[in-house]
Amino acid sequence: MAKLERMLSLVRRHRPDLEIVDKRTVPWVRGLGLVLRPVIPDFMTAFTMVIGDRVYLAGSPDRFPRDQLARILAHELVHQLDQAKHGAAFYLSYALLPLPLLRTRRAHWERRAYAVDLMLDHHDGGEEALLRTLQRCTALFAGPAYGWMWAGEHAASTFLEDVAAEVRSGALAQRDPYREILEAWRGPEAS
Ligand SMILES: [Zn+2]
Repeated sequence: MAKLERMLSLVRRHRPDLEIVDKRTVPWVRGLGLVLRPVIPDFMTAFTMVIGDRVYLAGSPDRFPRDQLARILAHELVHQLDQAKHGAAFYLSYALLPLPLLRTRRAHWERRAYAVDLMLDHHDGGEEALLRTLQRCTALFAGPAYGWMWAGEHAASTFLEDVAAEVRSGALAQRDPYREILEAWRGPEAS
């Protein structure tokens, strides 16, 4: 089985009614894209969104390289599990922040999900890949992409370093859902 199939079957174990849609085809998401455009101009073209069973991709699912889609689904699975566990508290603390608050609960949720990206890159490319992804994540957390959710390059980098340390030590991969995500990413040939 290929990565994407393994990841899909993991996600479907948690979310049997998983739906993957192109967000450009959903009118209310297009409206949201217009509202967000001044702050996040590439909201419609670069960002995935997830609500419950439904993953809103920035394009047609067939357009994505399969491994990239597997990785996106793994990141979104963390959000789906957090949404299921925390319900309204997740959505309120994630979405209903009218102003950039510089230190947000949204960053807490995103750090849990970007831990997947850090873990998978570290698995594939070691320390060098981990550092590259850390840098990309620092910019995402500190900048406008998520509304300056953990503002300041240095602060964001420190905030993410805790997770990077857990990736390096292997502690993260001992815990679900990270353990099962890594297992689906690697497949049986690697274990
Ligand atoms: Zn996310």
